[in-house]
Amino acid sequence: MKPKVAFFDFTSCEGCQLTVVDSLQTHVDLLDAVEIVQFREAMTEKGEDYAVAFVEGSISRQSDEARLKQIREQAAVLVALGACAHLGGVNAMKNAMPLDDVRRYVYGDKAEWYETYAARPISAVVKVDAFIPGCPIEREEFIEVVKALLMGRKPPIPDWPMCVECKRKENVCLFHQGGYCLGPVTRAGCGAICPTYGDGCEGCRGLIPDPNSNSMSDVLVKYGLTVDDMLARWTMFGTYQQMELQK
Ligand code: SF4
Ligand code: SF4
Ligand code: SF4
Repeated sequence: MKPKVAFFDFTSCEGCQLTVVDSLQTHVDLLDAVEIVQFREAMTEKGEDYAVAFVEGSISRQSDEARLKQIREQAAVLVALGACAHLGGVNAMKNAMPLDDVRRYVYGDKAEWYETYAARPISAVVKVDAFIPGCPIEREEFIEVVKALLMGRKPPIPDWPMCVECKRKENVCLFHQGGYCLGPVTRAGCGAICPTYGDGCEGCRGLIPDPNSNSMSDVLVKYGLTVDDMLARWTMFGTYQQMELQK
């Protein structure tokens, strides 16, 4: 019997699900290995019998929690798909502002119609078995994670810093060019795409486990930057984590 797989979304732009669709177009063999029973972005069927759940999006309403817990109860394996689900991601930027102000800004005089609370990663609500980082996820990494899960192996997610990939590409470091970058503390795996095109990494793949903060501090001092400069750069994807650290 093929493993039954389902995809779900919470607060997100759905770009990670689109990347899944894109990945599967060039890996149709994988479609033979699993049975997809629910995937709103790609099919109309809505099966509720599944063993593996991929969840995109952050949890940004109290009412999301019951739905996520129901998915967790059904799924033997639950995977966070992309930075919104993995980190809270861009949705958590609102957490640094009064939520009533945010709601009024977005919904105007209909603000009271819409529920909201501080956005959070899905791991803040349920146990997560694996994650696929990035905003959006990497096409090939998604395929490799699925293969690993099907074989009962640990998903091959890098736990080393972005700078390793960046150096392999022989990029001139942005710090040497007057810029700044979260590469020294961010998880590799995207091919250092932002520094390669001249933009500092903003940490969409999350921090590596046990980042070398002493070394990062040395780099900041050397280039006349402060921890606040780096924290500001980490706001786009790391607001939830920053606020948790401050608690
Ligand atoms: S991680 Fe990025 S691409 Fe994926 S759903 Fe969230 S905002 Fe969209
Ligand atoms: S540009 Fe960024 S990722 Fe590349 S070497 Fe410098 S700090 Fe590391
Ligand atoms: S370089 Fe950084 S911000 Fe850019 S895609 Fe990679 S992890 Fe994300």
